[in-house]
Amino acid sequence: QRCLALIRSTQVLNAYITVAEETALKQAEEAEERYRRGQPLGELDGIPIAVKDNFNTAGIETTCASNMLKGYVPPYNATVVQKLLDQGAVLLGKTNLDEFAMGSGSTDGVFGPVRNPWSYSRQYKEKVASRSDSEPENSNWVIAGGSSGGSAAAVSAFTCFAALGSDTGGSTRNPAAHCGVVGLKPTYGLISRHGLIPLVNSMDVPGILTRCVDDAAVVLGTLAGHDPKDSTTVQDTFQPFALPSLTDVSKLCVGIPKEYHVPGLSSEILAVWSKAADLFKNAGAKVVEVSLPHTCYSIVCYHVLCAAEVASNMARFDGLEYGHRSDVNKSTESMYAATRREGFNDVVRGRILSGNYFLLKQNYEDYFVKAQKVRRLIANDFVKVFGSGIDILLTPTTLSDAVPYVEFIKEDNRTRSTQDDILTQAANMAGLPAVNVPTALSGRGLPIGLQFIGRSFQEKQLLTVAKWFE
Ligand code: GLN
Repeated sequence: QRCLALIRSTQVLNAYITVAEETALKQAEEAEERYRRGQPLGELDGIPIAVKDNFNTAGIETTCASNMLKGYVPPYNATVVQKLLDQGAVLLGKTNLDEFAMGSGSTDGVFGPVRNPWSYSRQYKEKVASRSDSEPENSNWVIAGGSSGGSAAAVSAFTCFAALGSDTGGSTRNPAAHCGVVGLKPTYGLISRHGLIPLVNSMDVPGILTRCVDDAAVVLGTLAGHDPKDSTTVQDTFQPFALPSLTDVSKLCVGIPKEYHVPGLSSEILAVWSKAADLFKNAGAKVVEVSLPHTCYSIVCYHVLCAAEVASNMARFDGLEYGHRSDVNKSTESMYAATRREGFNDVVRGRILSGNYFLLKQNYEDYFVKAQKVRRLIANDFVKVFGSGIDILLTPTTLSDAVPYVEFIKEDNRTRSTQDDILTQAANMAGLPAVNVPTALSGRGLPIGLQFIGRSFQEKQLLTVAKWFE
């Protein structure tokens, strides 16, 4: 009830698309009853959780923040949603995002932009007020990051204890950094994607947003493991773990990739990053500069691969099986075209168009195949670095703290915003686990996060170090 009340009182954030008040209260009552009988269902019994609106939820509208799926009520739960419910979690509702998870601001969905809760913090208001007279409520509020901005804002505003996001290029870590919460992108294949409406199948992973690293480990434990409905999940059984309290980091080797000193990285973030490296050094860890030479190609490659997969993924939205269907009915073709024109925003249509271009017979080798090859080089950079004895990589998560919405949507910034994932994307190319840990506040009183990238399937080590650092 308190969570639901908080959702109501923070409605200005636009973090939720659907609040499943009735079912949530019923689930909570059932959990309470189990608690009274001393028979909890599992680790998450009675814990209020929110889910990004690109995961299917049986009986609850699932929109992907798109006109295409407005009103769509799936008949089944995504595996991760089912697993949460099986552990007793209370599903509060579905959170806001960029349409079909394409974006990095949570500004591009049909339900409007998500506002970062920190826009209303005392620290930010003081800083902003000292520079201008305008009310942060009206013009200076900052973006939540994206595309899982609704989930990050929901956790950050204390409306839930954990939320699911998705991460294809940074969509869990980026909003986690901007909203000051923990954002974990697990290893590709560790968690089922069944029921996650796909963006880029070869890179998508369900992400976990929580208030602290320990909570992320608990949620991971409930979600990880093989799913017969997702053939890309690994067969090995996953042992849930509680995180040890690391006291000695002297055997740890932390890599600082030099290619992450990218143009556009704010001096403030750079300072926080070097301070964090010093912290490890002073605690006795080995901190070494390493090189991931193909990092700079990850964004261009991503755009080719993403568009290609989007072009094929979005083919299912034809107005016949699910979602929106246009009234235009002169011919089947005109119905398809009108449905897709009315259903998708310009970002989605742009990617479909370019994806189909990259996949044309005469372009396929030059774009798609080449991008696949470069993807392999990017992944091999990590293999080499981890093979040389590095345990973990430490990098910034975002280029700067969150920017005001009015800045973010300016036309010239929108082209620049393709660079937003520059520090997070390569981990998706390589399928590696990575986590954002809130680290400091910027001069404007907004959160700054740092990212740890770990070895494949070494979530325990990754999170243990993240917890030490937290
Ligand atoms: N910003 C990237 C995109 O727009 C990544 C999104 C994501 O990780 N879902 O494709």
